[in-house]
Amino acid sequence: MIDLRSDTVTRPTPEMLEAMMSAPLGDDVWGDDPTVNTFQANLAELAGKEAALLFPSGTQSNLVGLMAHCERGDEYIVGQSAHTYRYEGGGAAVLGSIQPQPIENAADGTLPLEKISAAIKADDCHFARSKLLALENTIGGKVLPEEYVLKATELARERGLTTHLDGARLFNAAVATDRSLKQLCLPFDSVSLCFSKGLGTPMGSALVGSQALIDKARRLRKMVGGGMRQVGIIAAACQYALDHHVSDLNEDHRRAARLAVGLATLPGVDITSQATNMVFARFPDNHVQPLSAWLKEHGILIELLYATRFVIHRDINDADIDKVIAVMEAYFSRH
Ligand SMILES: *Cc1c(COP(=O)(O)O)cnc(C)c1O
Repeated sequence: MIDLRSDTVTRPTPEMLEAMMSAPLGDDVWGDDPTVNTFQANLAELAGKEAALLFPSGTQSNLVGLMAHCERGDEYIVGQSAHTYRYEGGGAAVLGSIQPQPIENAADGTLPLEKISAAIKADDCHFARSKLLALENTIGGKVLPEEYVLKATELARERGLTTHLDGARLFNAAVATDRSLKQLCLPFDSVSLCFSKGLGTPMGSALVGSQALIDKARRLRKMVGGGMRQVGIIAAACQYALDHHVSDLNEDHRRAARLAVGLATLPGVDITSQATNMVFARFPDNHVQPLSAWLKEHGILIELLYATRFVIHRDINDADIDKVIAVMEAYFSRH
């Protein structure tokens, strides 16, 4: 199957599995796992933060990040289409008693500064306490403009808010813009990073921030059930991905651009966006289901849940891209 539903479907390579099998292990809840400790120290350094903490999932890393910033009755300002708000089961509200204040994302994924400003509440007993601004980079594959990030985080700071970045695909942003992870993390108090997307690990995300924030996050992670034992097996995969897979994301971006160009020539296909490793397309409504069935019949899986989305990742090669274009072409020449 050519699986374009998400970059979460990537599998560990034999070399990554080898690194996992040979990792020295210990009980990480006791702080005893040397592979976890080394990975966290390396990642903190790379991100330019004091400390890092490994999590089983990005959902938990974001949740704990939000909870490390916000107390019960605080609110966080977030995009209407942000993962933390929309696709994490409402965890901030349900488990953190944190009220989300969603704002409509602009087409480029940003939250307009005047809307952020207007959403920040006065210190008044009628209101929840505005505490945190949360952004996402990349969002829908799009890299947030650097000047925007600087302005938005500066606005937050001026108004007394802290900042969190859902950087599930921040490595894609770094590679696409030729900027360092450190530069992209610098404006934020905390950042959540995922290794289980296009980087090929079976699981694993991390939160980076100040030592004080990470100390608090460690307690919260235990509370929500994320304390793990001989998890060096996963840290070894994440370290392997850091060392060997990050620059490969460039290939995914190149292939996504090629797919977009190929699909754009087909009648009935409207490419709505292509950025980093994602292509979003629109088809006449009556084609969506039959096209998806046709693709499946030809060994191609795509995501139709939110929008018609093609996600390119390290388990997709150039021949796969050619095949997807050819199969789509065949469909539209017949219908
Ligand atoms: C995948 C993803 C997450 C975390 O998802 P998990 O499946 O819980 O690891 C968070 N934010 C964004 C933008 C994501 O794409």
